Amino acid sequence: MQSPRTNPAGRARSARPWVPAALALAPAIVSGCQPAAPTPPPVDAVVVVVVDTLRADALGAYGAAEAVTPTMDALAEGGTLFERCLATSSWTWPSTASLLTGKLPPEHGLIGRDGSSISPDVPSVAAAFQSAGWATAAFVANPIMDAELGFGRGFDRWEGTDDSWDEAAVPLERATAWLAERQPGEPFFLYVHLVEPHSPYRPSAESAAALDLPAPPSEGDLGAVTRAYNLMIEGAPYDQGAIDDFVGWRRRCYAAEVRDADLAIRDLLEVLRRRGPLDRTLLAVTSDHGEEFLEHGLMGHGGQLYPESVHVPLILTGPGISPGTRVTERVENRLLGPTLLGLAGIGRPEGLAAANLTDGEERDLRQDEPSLLHLGNGGWIEGGEYLIPDEQQGMVVGDTVTVRARVEGGDRAASHRAFDPQSSVQAATQTDVDRTASEFSKLRRHTNTAPLSEELERKLRGLGYNLGRREPR
Ligand SMILES: [Zn+2]
Repeated sequence: MQSPRTNPAGRARSARPWVPAALALAPAIVSGCQPAAPTPPPVDAVVVVVVDTLRADALGAYGAAEAVTPTMDALAEGGTLFERCLATSSWTWPSTASLLTGKLPPEHGLIGRDGSSISPDVPSVAAAFQSAGWATAAFVANPIMDAELGFGRGFDRWEGTDDSWDEAAVPLERATAWLAERQPGEPFFLYVHLVEPHSPYRPSAESAAALDLPAPPSEGDLGAVTRAYNLMIEGAPYDQGAIDDFVGWRRRCYAAEVRDADLAIRDLLEVLRRRGPLDRTLLAVTSDHGEEFLEHGLMGHGGQLYPESVHVPLILTGPGISPGTRVTERVENRLLGPTLLGLAGIGRPEGLAAANLTDGEERDLRQDEPSLLHLGNGGWIEGGEYLIPDEQQGMVVGDTVTVRARVEGGDRAASHRAFDPQSSVQAATQTDVDRTASEFSKLRRHTNTAPLSEELERKLRGLGYNLGRREPR
C-alpha cells in the first residue's frame, strides 16, 4: 500500500489572508485614442498537468496519424497550442525542476546521477503562488520525484509516491479531495504529474482493447531482441526483424498509455467543471520529455537530445489565452511558470526570467536567442561505439540543434534538426560548437552533491535507477 509523501513544511501552512484576484489585478491604463482591449476575467485557479514522457507527435493535435488524445486535442482547439516547444532535458529530474523553477539544469542544480538536488537559492514558481496567498498543491505519480530533492518547495501539500509508478487514478483522487477542501473563491495553484506513458508500460485493459494491443513478446522473443539489440549497438550483423517487431509492440503499448493519460485529463476536467465554470481557470498541459524508439540507436529517454525526447506538447487554455491558436515560434516550457504568474496577476519572484509565452512580439524577439538543452551524461553513439559523456550541452538556433558532448579522450559534437525526427545527424560546425560552449559558460551553475539519504538512495535503486552517491572513478 502506498503512503503519500507529504512536504512537512506544507502541513504547517498558516491561514494566510488572500486577496481576491479581481482586486489583485490592476485595471489596464488605456490611452485616450486607443480602444480598450476586452479584459479577460481574472484568474483564480491555475492548473498544470505534466504528462510524463509525452512526445509531441503522440498527440492528434501534433499530427499523430492514429489519434488517441481527443481531450488534449479538444483543449488545443479551444486554446493555444505551441507547435515547437522544447523541454530543457530528456529525463524527469532536470526537466521537471526547470518547469518548477524556470531555470536551466546547470542553474537549478538537479542534474542527477551524482546526488544533486534543486538549489534552495533558485526561484520557485509554486512558492510565488504561495507567497501571494494562493493555496498550492502537487499530486505526483512519478516515484523518482521526491520532495527531498527540492521538488516540494512552495507547495502547501506535496503528495508523491514511495516506490511505485502510480496509475493516474491515484493523483486524481488526491487532487479531487484537495479541491473539495478549497473555500469558494479561494485561489489555488494545482500541479498534477501523471506517469502514463512512462515505462514500464502497463496500459489499462480499456486502452489495450481500444488499440487492439497484441500479446506481449515471449521470454524467448525478448532474448532474441536483446541479443539483436546488443549486436546492433556493437555494429555487428543482427536480426532486423526481431528488432522491428519489438519496437512495433513497444510503440503500441506507449500509444495505449498516452490514451490513458488523455482519459485522466478528461476526468480531471470533469472534476474541475463540477466545481463551477472554468472561465477563471488557466490550464496548461505539457510534458517533461518524450521517448525514443530506436530512431537514433537507443530506447527510452534520458540518453540523448533528439526531437523524440525534447520536443514536447504545450497547450494553454483559459482567460487571456487566444482560442484556436497555433503558435509556430520556438518556445521553452521552462518559461511556462513566469507566463502563468503573469497571467494570474502575480509578481515574479526575484531571479525568475520575465517571460510571457502568450505575447507574440516577445516570442519573435526570443527567436534571436538560442534555447539551451542539457544532460548530465546520457549516452553517445558514434560508429558503433557507445560512450558515456560527462555532460551533453545542446544549443538550438533557428531549428538546428548543436550538441556538444564532453567525453573523456576528446569531446564529440553533432547537429540535427530540433523538431524533425526524420532529420539526419550532421557534423557540427566549429563556430556552433564554440558558441554552445560559450553559452553554457555564461550560466551561473549550482552544484550540490550532498549525498542523498539512505532511504531515497535505496528507493531509487529499487526502481532501477543507479543514482545517488558518486561512484569512485
Ligand atoms: Zn519524466
